[in-house]
This record gives sequence, structure tokens and C-alpha cells, in this order.
Amino acid sequence: MAALARKTSRKRKRQRTEISFAPGFHLPTPKQSRNAVGLSPIPKLFEPGPENVYFTKVPHPTCQDDWLAQYDEEGQSFKNFVRTCPWISGRKVKFVRQNFIPEGRNLKERYPNGKIYIEPLGDFNQSSSDCSPCIDDLADFTQRFYGLPVVILPVVSIKLPESKGGVVMCEKDLSVKAGARKSSRVHLKQLQLNYRWSQGTCHIQLKVDSIHALLRQHIPEDALCLIGLTMMDLFEDETDLFVAGLAAGNQRVAVFSFARYNPCLSFSTEHWYQIWCSKELDRLEKEKILLQRSCKLLVHEIAHLMGLEHCIWFSCCMNGSGHLSEDFAQPIYLCPVDLHKLQHLCGFDVVDRYRKLLEFFKRHNLTEEAQWCEARLLFVLDEV
Ligand SMILES: [Zn+2]
Ligand SMILES: [Zn+2]
Repeated sequence: MAALARKTSRKRKRQRTEISFAPGFHLPTPKQSRNAVGLSPIPKLFEPGPENVYFTKVPHPTCQDDWLAQYDEEGQSFKNFVRTCPWISGRKVKFVRQNFIPEGRNLKERYPNGKIYIEPLGDFNQSSSDCSPCIDDLADFTQRFYGLPVVILPVVSIKLPESKGGVVMCEKDLSVKAGARKSSRVHLKQLQLNYRWSQGTCHIQLKVDSIHALLRQHIPEDALCLIGLTMMDLFEDETDLFVAGLAAGNQRVAVFSFARYNPCLSFSTEHWYQIWCSKELDRLEKEKILLQRSCKLLVHEIAHLMGLEHCIWFSCCMNGSGHLSEDFAQPIYLCPVDLHKLQHLCGFDVVDRYRKLLEFFKRHNLTEEAQWCEARLLFVLDEV
């Protein structure tokens, strides 16, 4: 599996009055999208339903930086996914050192000890000025979305330099990881991270490859994947404005940043180090938007680690995005094609999953998401 990146466009492109899809790309017809579900006839659980009621087409690009204005995506059908996904092939996934049952029908049966691990990197404080999503909520959502166990590892602390030229250190309390009893002797593992620093704004970005190296050292044996989450801003190449994250699928590790998900912040499209507060929002409203965006990023990226590619069949959580506002406009739910892939992979009960997601959306006042989920649940249960 290739590493998948979510990046902003590196160059500003000239705006045209009419934006077309990338050369060679054709939006699938409703029939092609139905065929991509991979079931005939399609049972109610995966039936898209009347056009534009539960699922709409992928929108036409409105700006040159939009995902489908830049990339000629082929689209991954259910059948194609089954053929290529390493987690459901006859062989154990490379480097995985855990109990493997080849005849199992899904991830839970094939890797019975398998877990999704989340490792917080640095502070996730919820002060009013520096709003961050709650890690427990993110883990809870992920568990409901995938129907797989999610475990939060102890925080890796990040120490920032006091001046330019200093080092960014991260520390992990190994006694906690090993499950050993805490002793008075502090047992810390330290590692240096690469970063860049702006003298003018004092903004810092961490380099993702050094974080991948850190995560590879921490990955537990029974991990399906290990996701590092941080509020620090990230970059990969010098020319990047930023990266929201980077997944190394073949190594089962990924790191994602929520630094740019705060709805009160605005960002320069020219300079990586220019970020400013552009509006005030009620604290609860701000937290709600941040949670929705962060949950969506997390489950999208974990799906990539599990072998799902970008979706062109419907508006869907698995659509690609070329920039932040395109990302924010995309739905948190899966289209029938990707729902079928995930159900086949994880073995969850579709109705039970919708119920659990609905409960989450209601609890966190995500009203639109709850309404969609409620309507969809009635549809698949044949109650409309
Ligand atoms: Zn993606
Ligand atoms: Zn989809």
C-alpha cells in the first residue's frame, strides 16, 4: 500500500471561470455507482435509495485546487477492494506479529487480538484559546465506526525549544507502556524530532517522517494500526504549507494533526507560518465543529490504512480533498460502496453500527449527522 498524504496544493493556481474535472476523469453514472456496491440484487442495507435523498453525487469542482479537478481517480469498486486489500488476502499482513487465523471471514476472526491504537503526541488541552478535540471522544467514535477495539496509549510528551536552533524532544514513559508498576525511578525514552521554526511568528511545524520513526518504535504487537494524534502543525517537504497527516500503510502507522481544524482560525495560502484568529465562536459550537472534523479525518485515514481508496461513487467520507474547505464540506458517513467494503472487512452489523453512531451524534449535538443517521436507519429497516 502506498503512503497516502493529505496535503494542500503547493502552488496557487489561476482561477478559471469554469472548472472542469481533471483530464480523463468521468463522473460515474448512477448505474456504475450501483454496480460498484458489488451485490445483485442490492439488499436494503446497502441500497443507495432514491437519488439525492440519502446519497448525492460527488460535487462538480468549484475551484482549481479541488480534488477531482486535479486527479483522474479511477474509483475502487467493492470487488476491486476485495481483490487488493491485504487484510483479507490469504496471507498474513507483512510485519504483523500476532495470532492469525487464515480461514477467518473478517478482521475480527482473522486477527482476533487486533486493535486500533491511538497515541496522543503532546498536549490536548481544552483551554478556551487553544481548543482541541477530546481523545476519548475520538476513540469512542472510531470504535463505533469500525466495530473494532480501540485503545488509547499514554501521552508522549513533546518539549518545544526555547529558542531557534534548540531541539524538539519527545518523551515516553516506558513503564506505562510495559504495564509495569510505577517505580520512583523515572524510566523515560527520549527521541529528537525534526521541525521548522518561524522567527517572525514563532510558529513551529514538526516533520512527519521523524514522527513515523517514533511510532514504529511504539507499535504494539497486536496493533492493526497505530495512529499518532497531535495538535502540533505538521509538514513533509520544505515546499508544503502544511500536511494534515501522513499514513505509511505498509508500516501500519500514521500521524494526523488537528492544528488547522479549529473553525476560528484562518491560514495564509502563501506562508506556512501565518495563522491568525479570524472569528469568535461560542465555545460549545467551536468544540462541536472541531470534533466533527477530527472524527471525519481520523476514520478516513484509518480506512486508507485498511486498504480503502478514495471514493468517486457518491458524496462520502472517503472522497479525496484538495484543501481544507473541500474537506470540511464532505459528509462523515460512508456511501453504500464503502459501507459494504468496511462491513466485509470488519464484520459488524450494519443496523447496530448505525444505532451506535446515532447515539454518538445525539450525545455531541451533531444534529445534521444525527438526522441523516436516523433517516437512513429507518430506510434500511424498511420503516419509511
Ligand atoms: Zn484520503
Ligand atoms: Zn464512498
